[in-house]
Amino acid sequence: MKILAGNWKMNTTFEEGYTLIEALKTELSPERLGEVVVVLAPPVVQLTQAIDLLIDYPEMAVAAQNGHASDSGAFTGEVSMAQLADAGADAVIIGHSERRQYSGETDRDVNLKTKSALAHELRPIVCVGEDLSVRKAGTHLAVVEAQLRAALDGIDGDLAENVVIAYEPVWAIGTGETATAAQAQEMHAHLRGVLRETYGELANHMPILYGGSCKPSNAAELFAQPDVNGGLIGGASLVAADFVALADLLQKA
Ligand code: PEP
Repeated sequence: MKILAGNWKMNTTFEEGYTLIEALKTELSPERLGEVVVVLAPPVVQLTQAIDLLIDYPEMAVAAQNGHASDSGAFTGEVSMAQLADAGADAVIIGHSERRQYSGETDRDVNLKTKSALAHELRPIVCVGEDLSVRKAGTHLAVVEAQLRAALDGIDGDLAENVVIAYEPVWAIGTGETATAAQAQEMHAHLRGVLRETYGELANHMPILYGGSCKPSNAAELFAQPDVNGGLIGGASLVAADFVALADLLQKA
C-alpha cells in the first residue's frame, strides 16, 4: 500500500478546507490514484466536515492530528482517540515532532496514544525523526530506532499490521531542507530492519512514509526508494495542485 497523507496543521478556515477537499475530489479519481491511499488531516474542528465530504470516497481517509490516550475524563481541551473514532475518523497522527517539541510529548506518550488508537480501530501514523544536532553527531539511526521501539513497545503483530510509520527528520520539516533520497532510504531501510526483528514478514507490508519539505520538485526521487512507501506532507498538502501532483508521482513510483 502507498499512502499520501496531508497534515494541514493549524491552517485553513472551514471554507478553505471545504474548497481544498472539493478540489481533491474532482482531481483524484480512484483510477488516477491506483494503489495510492490519500489521508487528509485537517484541524480537529473540521474533522466532521472532511468526513462528511468524503463519505463516498473510500480511497480518501480522514485523520486527526493528535488524540489523547485516555478514553474520557478531566482533560480540558483534549479529544480522545475514542471520540475521534466515534466522530468517524479513520486515522490519527501521533508523536509529530511539533507535538514533541511544543507540547512535551514523550516516547511513552506516543506509545500510550498508539495503543489507544489501535484499541479504537484508528490507524496510527506514528512519527519519528531526529533533530539537527543528532544528525550532525551521526547518531540518527540509533536515536530514531529507539523512538520506534518505544512507540511500538508491547504492540503485537495482530495490531501492528495497522500501524503506519512516518520518518520525518526534524531539520527538514517546514524548513525547505529535504533529506536526500539516499538519506531517506538509509533510515527507512534501518527502520524496516527493526520492524522485521519484531514482526518478521509483516514488516514488509508496514508503510513507512517520508516527511519533511516533500514537494513535487523533489518527491519523485524520494518516492522511488524501495523502502519509502509514501509521504507525510505539510506545506504542499495545502495547495491542491501540489498535492495532486504528489499523488501522481507516488502512483507512478
Ligand atoms: C510535517 O509537518 O509533517 C511536514 C512534513 O511538513 P512540511 O512538508 O511542511 O515540511
